[in-house]
Order: sequence, then C-alpha cells, then structure tokens
Amino acid sequence: MANPKSRTIVVCGAPAVGKSSLTIQFVENHFVDSYYPTIQSAYNKVIRFRGQEIAAEIIDTAGQDEHSILSSTHTVGIHGYVLVYSITSRQSLELAKLIREKILNFKGTDSVPMVLVGNKTDLHMQRQLTPEDGRDLASKWGCSWIEASAKLHETTTRIFDLMIAEIEKSINPDGDG
Ligand code: GDP
Repeated sequence: MANPKSRTIVVCGAPAVGKSSLTIQFVENHFVDSYYPTIQSAYNKVIRFRGQEIAAEIIDTAGQDEHSILSSTHTVGIHGYVLVYSITSRQSLELAKLIREKILNFKGTDSVPMVLVGNKTDLHMQRQLTPEDGRDLASKWGCSWIEASAKLHETTTRIFDLMIAEIEKSINPDGDG
C-alpha cells in the first residue's frame, strides 16, 4: 500500500480555551485536569477517513494573545486549522476572529480549511455564548463548526473528522479520490 497521505493541522485559539486538553483527549484518550500553559508541541495520529488512513500531525500552539498571534511557522505547510474558543468566554470568540484574520493575512487567501470549536460544553452553568453565536459565525466564514468538551473523547474525534473533511474538500472538491 502507498504511504498514507499526511496532513498537518494547527490547533489555535485564545489561552486556556482547552487547545491542549482537546488535542490530548483526541490523541491519548484522557482528560488533562491541570493547567500548564502550553509550549508548542506536536502529536502524530493516524486518522481513518472514508476508508483511507491519513497520517495527521497536530500542532498544539502556545497560548496566543492579540500581540503574539501565530507566526509563519503556523502558516507554511499547514493544511487546516482547528480554531478553538470556550463557550464560557465571549472574549475568546472575539480573539478567534482576530486569529482567523491573521491566518488569512499570512496566507494571502480569503478562506482556509477550518473547524470552529466551542469547547467546555460541560460547563453549561458558565455559558456566555449560545450555539448560534458559533454556528452563525462559521456559516459566515464557510467553515465547519462544532461544540465539544475535552472531557468527552467522542466530541474530539468528531472535530478531527470534520477537519480532515474540510481539508480533503479543499484539495479535491469533487471528493472522488
Ligand atoms: P490551552 O491553553 O488552550 O491549551 O488550554 P488547556 O488545554 O491547558 O486548558 C485550560 C484549562 O481548562 C485546564 O484547566 C483544563 O483542564 C480546562 N479545560 C479544558 N477543556 C475543558 C473542558 O472541555 N471542560 C472543562 N470543564 N475544563 C476544560
């Protein structure tokens, strides 16, 4: 069999929205309950998508603020972006908008394969954003959207399935290969 396709995915978003927790839950199947501001780390995982094996490299970026959002290492050779906000923080959705702008500026395009993720759905008492807030923004952007909790492995699997689908759609819009 030919080498599997490889796809590089960046997980980005405001600090403490759960980028590392979502990534680790997806790759290693457990929830990390302690908070260590991330130094950038990369993970590898084979994802089965429509009968194909896809070798995913997942880059968990260090916490971004409005002054240090991304760099060229986050835009060159990257196939898709998982852009995370927390449903408990309106500010994190505002920062997600800035991060997307920055990615598009770096890339010099007006769209990029992206999944917008509203994390921490288990903290429903602290919810500041409705599902519609995220869904409407994603539909304006023409990208996928999902709410998730890093405590639930299943929702993290769904995120990366959507991500691969967005990437494959952008590479092969007819979906026949
Ligand atoms: P990052 O800076 O975006 O990588 O955020 P982390 O993954 O380090 O998470 C920040 C904090 O939020 C940690 O204390 C996590 O345990 C917590 N956290 C992350 N995701 C969730 C979630 O879905 N639900 C809950 N209750 N806590 C979460």
